[in-house]
Amino acid sequence: MDRLRLATVWLGGCSGCHMSFLDLDEWLIDLHGRAELVYSPVVDAKEYPEGVDVALIEGAICNEDHVEMIHKIRRRTRAIVAFGDCAVTGNVTALRNPLGSARPVLERAYLEAADLLARVPSEPGIVPPLLDRVVPVHAMVPVEYYLPGCPPPADRIRALLEQLLDGQAPRLTAAQIKFG
Ligand code: SF4
Repeated sequence: MDRLRLATVWLGGCSGCHMSFLDLDEWLIDLHGRAELVYSPVVDAKEYPEGVDVALIEGAICNEDHVEMIHKIRRRTRAIVAFGDCAVTGNVTALRNPLGSARPVLERAYLEAADLLARVPSEPGIVPPLLDRVVPVHAMVPVEYYLPGCPPPADRIRALLEQLLDGQAPRLTAAQIKFG
């Protein structure tokens, strides 16, 4: 049987969801037997490939690069999983939204808090401009599945992946999504 073509993507998040993915520990070896990790921060792939079966998307959509990337992912992926609370709701990443735009955040970080060389970073084509409003993944493209948690614990990630590997539409039980 062909292995599932799996991707994991790090957008506007803290990488904690990927740390939780790595907490799958030895089950990662079992996963490798059934899925090929074709794109991820933990593998050396520069370009998001065509024909991805499942993509776990960590983080919200915060800047113009994220917008371009999530549309490319949508075109090339059969099933998108909003991976963690930032992807599901915006969560921590969206805390700046009540400020109304990206400008107050940039000014606070790079001008008011600067010890020297106060300057808002700007380099067309290199520093992606922030969006004025952070949005969850489903606000930008359709999402098939949601995996809540900040971060989702490893056993929750495993439960979802096992169901996908078995060809089922994931259904997490209350025990699998309980917090704490
Ligand atoms: Fe980090 Fe939590 Fe957001 Fe995951 S959901 S990227 S752990 S803040």
